[in-house]
Amino acid sequence: MQDLQSRIALVTGASRGIGAGIAVALARAGADVAVNYHEKAEAARTVCNEISGFGRKALAIEANVGMASEVKRLIAEVQDRLGPVDILVNNAAIARPQQLEDITEQDWDEIIDTNLKSVFLMTQAVIGSMRRRKWGRIINLSSVAAQTGGAVGPHYAASKAGILGLTHSCASLLVREGVTVNAIAPALILTDMVTSNPKASPELIPMGHFGAIEDVASVAVMLALNDYTTGQTISINGGWYMT
Ligand code: NDP
Repeated sequence: MQDLQSRIALVTGASRGIGAGIAVALARAGADVAVNYHEKAEAARTVCNEISGFGRKALAIEANVGMASEVKRLIAEVQDRLGPVDILVNNAAIARPQQLEDITEQDWDEIIDTNLKSVFLMTQAVIGSMRRRKWGRIINLSSVAAQTGGAVGPHYAASKAGILGLTHSCASLLVREGVTVNAIAPALILTDMVTSNPKASPELIPMGHFGAIEDVASVAVMLALNDYTTGQTISINGGWYMT
């Protein structure tokens, strides 16, 4: 499948987990991919090597997507070295399992900046060029936490619910401009985020087991390929929350 041939994708938090899986799946479908990461440079390089193996261009770029200045630098570098972003996947996030009473103002701000403000900043940074070219895909990683509260904490759930509001608003604003904006709400996919959370048990999942990264990556590719789906949330959760 090469339907995303000549498209340029940028996946935030693509050094590991779901983001890495989506980056590789988009490359397999024909896209060149910018692999954003925050700390794990070596892991990001490994993802780039895998992408290069499909004959696609790959670029690893460090940036904290929760900060406007870093987002500006990230987008400028992708534009210079690959070209304007066609497919933006807002995937980067942190999950800090905490009780309501233990969450400090600093915890709250870090979670909201990394998980939610980043989606706004990244969207704002790419939207001008998508509008000009009348083509774009924005895919935002929300969570079952937005729908049920989830297994991390209220700060994380609020950040993921905020992403749904942002997705609906941007989808409406861009609906006549060739740009679709959708959300994916997974749970629980076997990544570092899940294995590091003592509350994340397969017992929470009606199917009785965790999901695989490929279960999410394949849906991201489907959304990148689809012209007529916008403002939707695709749940991938083993039956935890049904819509
Ligand atoms: P991981 O914890 O495995 O990976 C997180 C990624 O985000 C890493 O690549 C990390 O980079 C990056 N990252 C963290 N902070 C920043 C930052 N400030 N700037 C740029 N990159 C950053 O997460 P998952 O793969 O499990 O989750 C991916 C997405 O899916 C997240 O949005 C998560 O909320 C969502 N999700 C996941 C679920 C699951 O079951 N796994 C369930 C529901 C939603 P580095 O490696 O450099 O640290």
